[in-house]
Amino acid sequence: MGTYSSLVDTVLTPIEGTYSQGRDGNTITKITVHCMVGQCSPEGCASVFKDRYDDGDLVSCNYMIGPDGKIGVYVQEEDTSFCSLDETNDSQAITIEVASGASEPYAFNDAAYNRLVLLCADICTRYNITLYFNDTPSGSLTGHYMFSDKSCPGTWFRSRYQEFCDAVNAKVKSGVFSPDDYDDSYQEDESEAVYDYYLITSTSKQDSPGDCGNKITGSVYLGRW
Ligand SMILES: [Zn+2]
Repeated sequence: MGTYSSLVDTVLTPIEGTYSQGRDGNTITKITVHCMVGQCSPEGCASVFKDRYDDGDLVSCNYMIGPDGKIGVYVQEEDTSFCSLDETNDSQAITIEVASGASEPYAFNDAAYNRLVLLCADICTRYNITLYFNDTPSGSLTGHYMFSDKSCPGTWFRSRYQEFCDAVNAKVKSGVFSPDDYDDSYQEDESEAVYDYYLITSTSKQDSPGDCGNKITGSVYLGRW
């Protein structure tokens, strides 16, 4: 069995070939946060990966966080996701796709952001990582935009990097979090159904959610996963 955070709400099965076994001899020293470009549930994000797989595009992530803070694990921690277009980064990083607005600044909901802080505090505690951002791939918090011509994780999160690192490091230092602390931050209720839907703002699959901050143009329609 693989390794994943005790915060996880749902365990998903990644498609063979969209990740690699092991970490290529590296240890986990980084976290890379991505924006989903849509308010997608973990299952919805996995569905986007499947659509892209069908198009011949091999993409994955370790974790995904829905707009309500629900956490899914996709590629388990000991394996390398194909998420940031940089094999060296991804073999050292836990990659996390976070539900976001469908256009700049790709803002995260409070529930998603708060769970992201907790998930990262859990990861940093287990791998003894101090989170810091220096706008280069050498930092322990890296961004997709460092490796490709994308905005990902979007200007909303990018403007909060320092605040985010401080929040995660403080949470690690306090050491007061446990799985019980998280239970009230994600609650299944009738409103969850809304997250089965998401806004697709695109004219082609290339611009669809899951593209992590590609510039989006075109018409808007409502899709169901
Ligand atoms: Zn990305």
